[in-house]
Amino acid sequence: MTRHYALFFDGACEPRNPGGIASYGFQLAVNGKELLSNKGVVGEGHGMTNNVAEYHALIQGLNCVKQRAEKGDTVAVIGDSQLVIRQMTGAYKVRSQSIIPLFARAKKLRNQLRGKGVRVRFKWVPRDENAVADALSHAAFEEYCIEKGYLFSACECGGTLIPRKNTKTGHKFFGCSRFPECRRTAPFPDKS
Ligand SMILES: [Zn+2]
Repeated sequence: MTRHYALFFDGACEPRNPGGIASYGFQLAVNGKELLSNKGVVGEGHGMTNNVAEYHALIQGLNCVKQRAEKGDTVAVIGDSQLVIRQMTGAYKVRSQSIIPLFARAKKLRNQLRGKGVRVRFKWVPRDENAVADALSHAAFEEYCIEKGYLFSACECGGTLIPRKNTKTGHKFFGCSRFPECRRTAPFPDKS
């Protein structure tokens, strides 16, 4: 039976891009049902960007697909990064030195899938249609901050105010790590 996979991927670099904490998340669904999801942190500081994070999400997701998809299956690879999607479809060239090796890995995985007889297509969606991957990526960032003891500031409830981003507007603010139980927020100081 033909299986239709959907791979949703997302990456972020917070609280600064470039040079922040690069985190990723992806969800793999088959015939409309979640099969698995994963999230993590690529690294922190030098060399970290949104695009590095996006590519890590894509590569890890494609690896999961490669382990499962068989001849005749289809894969829709879905992301909210126009740059990554357009690079993968060949519409944009890859110029950034940090992206070239990541792009090569992603392209190799895509070609391996196609070589197996799996139909792979790439699709851009607005961020609000990529909410699961976006939330996974952000959760990885939050867990990392808490694990590393990055106490951006303490919240009155005993939680931590950590950088967050409104997924619809992109507006940055500090929100409590105990959200939604605690809804306290504070303005984001970095206006750059
Ligand atoms: Zn709180």
